Amino acid sequence: MMLYKKRLMIPGPTPIPEKVVQAGLEPMIDERTEEFGRLFSELSLNLKKIINTDNDILIFSSSITGACEGAVQNLFSQGDHVLVINNGYFAERWIQICEAYNLMVHQVNFEFNEKVDFSKAKKILKENEQIKGAICVFCETSSGMMNDIELFGAVTNDILSIVDAASGLGVSEIKADQWGIDVVVSGGQKALMTPPGISFVTVSDKAWKANHTSNISKFYFDWQKAKKYSQEKYPHTPYTPAISLIFQLREATNMILDDGLQNVYKKHELLYKATREAVRSLGLRLVLEMDTVASSVTAAYLPEYINAEIFVEQLANEFGIQITDGPGIYKDKIIRIGHCGYMDPFDIIATILAIETLLQKRYGYNLLPGNAVQKAQEVFANGNLVTSNI
Ligand SMILES: *Cc1c(COP(=O)(O)O)cnc(C)c1O
Repeated sequence: MMLYKKRLMIPGPTPIPEKVVQAGLEPMIDERTEEFGRLFSELSLNLKKIINTDNDILIFSSSITGACEGAVQNLFSQGDHVLVINNGYFAERWIQICEAYNLMVHQVNFEFNEKVDFSKAKKILKENEQIKGAICVFCETSSGMMNDIELFGAVTNDILSIVDAASGLGVSEIKADQWGIDVVVSGGQKALMTPPGISFVTVSDKAWKANHTSNISKFYFDWQKAKKYSQEKYPHTPYTPAISLIFQLREATNMILDDGLQNVYKKHELLYKATREAVRSLGLRLVLEMDTVASSVTAAYLPEYINAEIFVEQLANEFGIQITDGPGIYKDKIIRIGHCGYMDPFDIIATILAIETLLQKRYGYNLLPGNAVQKAQEVFANGNLVTSNI
């Protein structure tokens, strides 16, 4: 029975706008042609605008983790020292990748709901001059924490700086060149509103220098080979790209740029604030006590007697609304509501209303009906959300 519309409210993969769905239905083309070259160049240019960089951009067909692994392969040599700013699940993944390539990993650790203190990173870098590069996640999707990439860029001036902007890109502004970020890694399936399968990296001159001395074996993600193909008369890739996804990501990035980046950031800020206000008003404790800049996700604890994994399933089965549970050991304690990409105020209101109803119906929660929704509505009403096609 189709009583409820399905709503995908997770921080990736995210819903796909109709125009982006259609772009995926384009007839197949040969990737060694002028037509593909134009498509590929347009996409590269769009991504550079969103990242605020003039550096090279290399586009791959893989999940984002593939491009993360590629960055480690292309920038370092076995035994190189790297620093990982660790305040969550995705930073942990970088540690695993670095260790898989026998790098010496230094960590500066923070609780997953704790703001990064970059002076601690600075201290470690000062005490360990052999550290060649540092890695920081922009939006730590496991908690919603937005790390301050401008500060990260400032403390890593003398070494390579690598930013995992998977779910942060398109949600909140990143000025890669101005902030001195050598490598930005991201992909299409978070705020960029495209089906999973495209990843990309930006590469600064400093990063190319490091690449030229790297002795780690590489093949599929070989940056020099990718650059060579991207500079041919008809730009393309060394191996068959996910052509349909490239059509789709070009369409999605056109939509974002047509709307205006600042408007897109403003929309995300309102979705984020409205969700936080509403979740608070449901009596749920937010994982992040402090406000950050707009994030792709809101994480909150459920009361101890409610299992988050089961709650998430019930919300999907009973109301068609797919949120997600917590990372790792928080799986049964935390819910996470995604609000990045092709989502709007009504998606948030529907989600909040469904959570409220489930809390009351199944768990006997005593709430003033509509109170949380009203909180969200107030944020939207005061936010002067501009008319937008996304
Ligand atoms: C989603 C995400 C990734 C990994 O993306 P995959 O496409 O699943 O490999 C990496 N880092 C962050 C911060 C993410 O949000």
